[in-house]
Amino acid sequence: EIYGTQPLTIFSKIIDRTIPADIFYEDKKCVAFRDVNPQAPLHFLVIPKTPIPRISEVTEDDKELLGHLLVTASQLAKKEGLDEGYRLVINDGKHGAQSVYHLHIHVIGGRQMGWPPG
Ligand code: 5GP
Repeated sequence: EIYGTQPLTIFSKIIDRTIPADIFYEDKKCVAFRDVNPQAPLHFLVIPKTPIPRISEVTEDDKELLGHLLVTASQLAKKEGLDEGYRLVINDGKHGAQSVYHLHIHVIGGRQMGWPPG
């Protein structure tokens, strides 16, 4: 298990319900829950149950899972009514401003976004 030596984060505790979160979707491979500090009217995270620390560490073996996370993010955005579009974000490492080292896709919407990001 290549991720077995990584320390677990708060997101593993959310997955196993040790700490509370607004989990509104779950399947065999991932969960989705509302971000505790939302940056827009709608802001949720899609995370794999496997504690992959960051996007820069994924391998070919993770292709199917990564595809599943993106398809799930898209389907949940539709279900949440984000018909005018939205932003998907994956932060990686220090320069990417990653704070929780358990891979997650931010789904952010419900307002006009700007570009480029800060
Ligand atoms: P990052 O900067 O790592 O891409 O984003 C981590 C995100 O996780 C942040 O938007 C932060 O608000 C969110 N977050 C951190 N801890 C918790 C928590 O305990 N519960 C929930 N629901 N969100 C969290």
